[in-house]
Amino acid sequence: MKIVKSINEIRNFVKEAKSSGKSIGFVPTMGFLHQGHLSLVEKAKEENDFVVVSIYVNPTQFSPDEDFEDYPRDMGSDSAKLEKLGVDCIFNPEHEEIYPEGFNTYITVNEITASLCGKSRPDHFKGVTTIVGKLFNIVQADKAYFGKKDYQQYLVIKKMVKELNFPLEVIGLPIVRESDGLAMSSRNKYLNQEERKQATVLNRSLIMAEELIKNDIKDVEKIKYDIIEMIEKESKAKIDYVEILDARNLKEIESIGENTLIALAVYIGKTRLIDNIVITLK
Ligand code: AMP
Repeated sequence: MKIVKSINEIRNFVKEAKSSGKSIGFVPTMGFLHQGHLSLVEKAKEENDFVVVSIYVNPTQFSPDEDFEDYPRDMGSDSAKLEKLGVDCIFNPEHEEIYPEGFNTYITVNEITASLCGKSRPDHFKGVTTIVGKLFNIVQADKAYFGKKDYQQYLVIKKMVKELNFPLEVIGLPIVRESDGLAMSSRNKYLNQEERKQATVLNRSLIMAEELIKNDIKDVEKIKYDIIEMIEKESKAKIDYVEILDARNLKEIESIGENTLIALAVYIGKTRLIDNIVITLK
């Protein structure tokens, strides 16, 4: 497995693989890898002859008051995990390589970035689409893999790829959870023991909401109310948002339809966690 820092080197390496007829799978990450990331890598390995994983904590998707500096990093452990899975190449660039001095070109996707995380984290998705667009141009993969843990991000990337004609397929994969239901996240590391216990309320409230819907409760306001009530019982929890939207386009709905997204962002102590569920009705 190669660890590559420069754009030229990764381009040449991929070009060589392509010229011998290999298909290229790509998994963009910010590192500190857990089984959620590795599930994407496993799928990429299954479906492609050559797999590239990028590890890059992208500064432009963090606002100045967020955790860019503190974001957990562990290149040693990450590369051991990826080597074990048979990854061909890690792309781990320096900031100057990605954002040279004077850099001033951005990709923005409008409308579906206005709600949920886009509302609480202004400019976050501009940073995400810009880095992912750049990485797509650098790596030139056939397929790229994203987790539905970041459901809005997955939709935004799919839209960007379609509308800007990036010649690759975007594949979304299910949320990987700890045994008690907490969605895996690099940020779970920030939680102390009590917070870690209370953090399961995100998933618990989603399961409760799913039960309500199964019992034919369709009123969005009523379901939101019950979710909020459950989360607020946890002393460390502070809600950023609880939203119930059309899962296809993130438009607001009043009553549960065929494809519904229930999405949460909740601070547990100082740590902001997100989770979601997509409910499909026949
Ligand atoms: P990140 O390193 O947080 O930027 O995540 C890199 C990729 O891994 C994104 O496509 C995430 O959606 C995905 N991912 C993160 N956590 C999970 C999880 N628990 N289950 C599935 N995919 C995940």
